[in-house]
Amino acid sequence: MDYKINTKCILSGYSPKNGEPRQLPIYQSTTYKYDSSVEMGKLFDLEASGYFYTRLQNPTNDAVAAKIAALEGGVGAMLTSSGQAASFYSVFNVAQAGDHVISSAKIYGGTFNLFNVTMRKLGIDFTFVSPQATREELEAAFKPNTKAVFAESLSNPALEVLDIETFADAAHAHGVPLIIDNTFPTPVNCRPFEFGADIVIHSTTKYMDGHATSVGGVIVDSGNFDWTQNDKFPGLTTPDDSYHGITYTERFGKLAYITKATAQLMRDLGSIPSPFNAFLLNIGLETLPLRVERHCYNASKVAKYIKDSGYAVEVTYPGMEGSKGYELAQKYMPNGTSGVISFRIKGGRDAATKFMDSLQIAEIATHVADARTCCLHPASTTHRQLTSEELIACGISDDLIRLSVGIEHVDDIIADVAQALEASQK
Ligand SMILES: *Cc1c(COP(=O)(O)O)cnc(C)c1O
Repeated sequence: MDYKINTKCILSGYSPKNGEPRQLPIYQSTTYKYDSSVEMGKLFDLEASGYFYTRLQNPTNDAVAAKIAALEGGVGAMLTSSGQAASFYSVFNVAQAGDHVISSAKIYGGTFNLFNVTMRKLGIDFTFVSPQATREELEAAFKPNTKAVFAESLSNPALEVLDIETFADAAHAHGVPLIIDNTFPTPVNCRPFEFGADIVIHSTTKYMDGHATSVGGVIVDSGNFDWTQNDKFPGLTTPDDSYHGITYTERFGKLAYITKATAQLMRDLGSIPSPFNAFLLNIGLETLPLRVERHCYNASKVAKYIKDSGYAVEVTYPGMEGSKGYELAQKYMPNGTSGVISFRIKGGRDAATKFMDSLQIAEIATHVADARTCCLHPASTTHRQLTSEELIACGISDDLIRLSVGIEHVDDIIADVAQALEASQK
């Protein structure tokens, strides 16, 4: 039965049997007991499925991963301890030293550093392209050793909407997968697999958790990419000596990528979430559609208010007609984008500081996408090391404010923004 997403958020991943707990139990156990060494041996050979060590698999974590796989329409998923770990594993699962990856340049700052600094040290080369790149511009970025294309469906913090189909077509024409970070829209507003993406990742720290309690991430496999179509992915299509010569594509078919990520990368690198954090994430997921709908409702009212107030030079909210990205958002996320707005305040850096300091409800925080409205002035915080020229290159002007609209009553948020806008001009 293919339920609607609201129903999947409640039911998917865990179905209690007669007399069992209705809420997903927290299996806070490192290890699992078996009656014979023969039985346990089969698990180690990946011949039987079952639990033996929580770094590889845990029933609580697996139930939550299965729920997110259902929400995205994938065949399998793996939870990670952070969004950063999910980004790293998603690429490292198909690329190694000597390989090359194409990434959108407008991505989360932490992901950019991971790719541009840390993964380069591992010998993986990156080419960064504009998320607005045309097919021709994308073509020019491919090399014979390109193994994947990576981009955000709705970028943080620039709020650029990706033309997913253009990126997917280009990737597939070169026999490589498209990996999408779908953190901002969540599967409630955008399902990248429906537009040709092959792998989806999330920082579950944001809307999925929704309450600012747990850092976490997830990788979801669509099961659609054919790893055997060329010889670019020997890690998936030739025997893994560290696993008794298993060939992932032969043994696991559509689950090859996600099984390798678990059996090899998670085994070797760690970065699992604690079952308790997975439990908290699961509670967040139960109300995700309700919250996302309200975040978008509130944000669109606030964006319109700021635009009409005359205090902003420019307002970016791709869910709002007339905003940058509106047309693409209508195609890829027609029911809403996210709760995040950015705007350039009249009066420059000075006005931006006064605005921030005058807010009563909205908190100043280097975070986005949870229940509480929060606000950030990138030029004086996250990007304060950059020179004015560098700021302009990242698309961040010193009058830019990012507002993550929460689920307080919209009238209260607007009243707060209104008085702070007025105070900003004094
Ligand atoms: C926050 C964020 C990340 C990193 O996730 P963490 O959970 O903080 O490690 C990755 N991508 C996007 C779009 C994010 O907003």
